[in-house]
Amino acid sequence: MEVKQFIFNMFQENTYVLTDEEKNCIIIDPGCFFEEEQERLVGYIRSNGLKLTRIIQTHLHLDHIFGCQVLFDGFGIQPEAHASDEFFLDIFPTYGRKFGIDEELKCVPLKSYLRAGDVIKLGDSELHVIHTPGHSPGGVCFYAPKEKLLFSGDSLFMGSIGRTDLERGNGPELIRSIKEKLMNLPVDTTVLPGHGPKTTIGFEKANNPYIHE
Ligand SMILES: [Zn+2]
Ligand SMILES: [Zn+2]
Repeated sequence: MEVKQFIFNMFQENTYVLTDEEKNCIIIDPGCFFEEEQERLVGYIRSNGLKLTRIIQTHLHLDHIFGCQVLFDGFGIQPEAHASDEFFLDIFPTYGRKFGIDEELKCVPLKSYLRAGDVIKLGDSELHVIHTPGHSPGGVCFYAPKEKLLFSGDSLFMGSIGRTDLERGNGPELIRSIKEKLMNLPVDTTVLPGHGPKTTIGFEKANNPYIHE
């Protein structure tokens, strides 16, 4: 499984494209907002001859779904996310105003729901869905055991954790999610978050101030 990272939009969001040996690909959190960014993501898929099979969301905050509409227009694929975050799609059209984005935003509906314990296959790789509510109620992480990779969305960052002051966020719940469901992963697991640089479970266990409270 090959992992390509893009950094998109005014929130510097990390979008990941995972590709198998047959050139099937899955996108995690398409955050491309500006036209140039959307062309870059679509161009990456087309110029490499990739077949987009699924779009999976760690959660449905605006900075992680800006690109869903353009991917649907180009490839006919709708995003999948945890049901508890679906309400964000209802408030999305005007949600940008909160962050200084005046234009009306558009996102296609979900194709289906992701659930805790789901296994998403890509070639001979697997992504296990771990429900980590707190940053948002339907926040999930994707864990690839063979590659020892964790796509942590906005739950866990290098030396930090996601904000919990947005709709239905919950600080104690987020810390509980991280401690109980992420810190038990192998210490040499590489963590690829929704913002900022990568880290490891071992580094966070030793250094993340939020999980030692
Ligand atoms: Zn978020
Ligand atoms: Zn984010």
